[in-house]
Amino acid sequence: MKKILASLFLVLLIGVILFWFFLFGKNGRQWEIDQTSGLEKDENTESIIIDNELDSTQIQPESDQISNAEEKIEDGDDLVKDEKEEVTESTEITKDELNNLSIKNNLVSFGFQKFSGTRKIDTIVIHSSYNSLGGDQYSLEKIIAIYKDYGVAPHYIIDRAGVIYQLVKENDIAYHAGVSSVPDGRTDVNKFSIGIELVGNETDGYTKKQYEKLQELINKIKNEREIKYVLGHDEIAPERKTDPWVFDWNKISK
Ligand SMILES: [Zn+2]
Repeated sequence: MKKILASLFLVLLIGVILFWFFLFGKNGRQWEIDQTSGLEKDENTESIIIDNELDSTQIQPESDQISNAEEKIEDGDDLVKDEKEEVTESTEITKDELNNLSIKNNLVSFGFQKFSGTRKIDTIVIHSSYNSLGGDQYSLEKIIAIYKDYGVAPHYIIDRAGVIYQLVKENDIAYHAGVSSVPDGRTDVNKFSIGIELVGNETDGYTKKQYEKLQELINKIKNEREIKYVLGHDEIAPERKTDPWVFDWNKISK
């Protein structure tokens, strides 16, 4: 009996131990599998996410680059278009500037005769002036001081930077032409003309800006009046005058 109980206990013990092992082992394995599969899943998921992210980030920038490139191409087109537009715009601006040209008011009290009524103007006379009395040859102040000494003045003077100054109102008779005559034989040119001085000496020629602004000023005057002649001072007084010196008439359209 004691032997039977002992063997039963032993069997039970072995059974419990086996069961324990079975459970433990199975759980352990299960846990391991779960853990592994979990990790694997996580890794897979992560890697998928990462891959997706990588893919998406890799693709995104590429597509961005493509779209950027496309944008650049579009921009390029735009630039070309802009340039074209700018060209058109600048022509339009020039057209606008015919009536809205930037002119600095610098009216003087000498060198002209007040004209009552509306003066009939059909001639533009181009001159050039510089300061020959020492110091800055192109000093506007000094050039105007010389005009004052001589009691002369143009309607406009354009400095080296292309800034247009108005010295005399267009309707007033400025003393700029002196004894002279236009091709149709008329004398007293001051009476029917507008005088424009360019700041420049006998050798240097004129700046690009000066030619540009002179052209714009001529265009403006022509837009407002019936202009028959655009002449150099040397053309209306060839025996007395040589200005505008080294002036390139090809650079302006009369
Ligand atoms: Zn002159």
